[in-house]
Amino acid sequence: MNIDLSGRTAVITGGGHGLGQEMSRAFAALGATVWTCDLDQKELDETRDLCGDRCEVRVVDVRERGDVSAFVAEASKESGRIDVLVNNAGGVAGQTGKPLEEITEEEWRVIFDVNLNGAFYFSQAAIPGMKGSGWGRIINISSGAGLRVSLTGIQAYASAKAGLIGFTRQLASELGPWGITVNCVAPGFIRCNPMTERQWQSYGTEGQEKLVASIATRRLGRPEDIAHAVLFFASDFASWITGQTLAVDGGR
Ligand code: NAP
Repeated sequence: MNIDLSGRTAVITGGGHGLGQEMSRAFAALGATVWTCDLDQKELDETRDLCGDRCEVRVVDVRERGDVSAFVAEASKESGRIDVLVNNAGGVAGQTGKPLEEITEEEWRVIFDVNLNGAFYFSQAAIPGMKGSGWGRIINISSGAGLRVSLTGIQAYASAKAGLIGFTRQLASELGPWGITVNCVAPGFIRCNPMTERQWQSYGTEGQEKLVASIATRRLGRPEDIAHAVLFFASDFASWITGQTLAVDGGR
């Protein structure tokens, strides 16, 4: 199975580092023109260097609906549409787990804004062009935290990631008649940024061994494990798959 994304325009959110950076690199390597956004220009420049000529980067906060629309419009300018949207930006916004009664409204909202509302804004902006061309792929990045109890202990994160799974299912049903598929990838724990590195270190040697022993394939995941699943959903090989959530976590 050789995936060829030549001629496709892909928007990948949160591509400054971690999984989004690897997805950007992988999409560009298979011929797609990649547009990625993040909050930090320096990190985005690094992504552009990794991707080569077929990559445009912009500082865009996925919580700002107007900026999201303008970014999607710019990415659509050449071909009149974007073909693939990966709603990857997310995470725990620097938070750590604590009892529910100590959570402020702002802490709760910021996690929903980044993980769920951003996906809504981007999908809304991308869909008209996809409908016009009769082809589209939307891939939402949820988490094991959306399927099960979260390792982070962060209630809003578990809720927003579960919300993305419902959003995927609902959009898939709505958009199928236009040739648009909507799927979701739920990654297991991957060390790929300072936050996950801190989380890993906090487990200590015993906790780390226990975590790896709980994975059927007995190894931690790598960013490319997630990118491969996303590439499959973005490809023509996945044209009769929609509304699905794929756990990419080494098995339980
Ligand atoms: P990451 O390294 O923190 O990447 C997320 C990216 O999104 C970061 O570059 C971050 O930028 C960006 N971002 C955050 N808020 C944003 C905003 N408001 N507007 C634009 N960009 C924003 O995290 P990751 O580990 O690669 O995770 C990628 C996705 O996979 C996330 O949705 C995460 O929840 C999910 N996931 C990750 C794991 C894991 O173990 N790594 C497991 C399950 C699910 P800044 O760093 O500048 O804030």
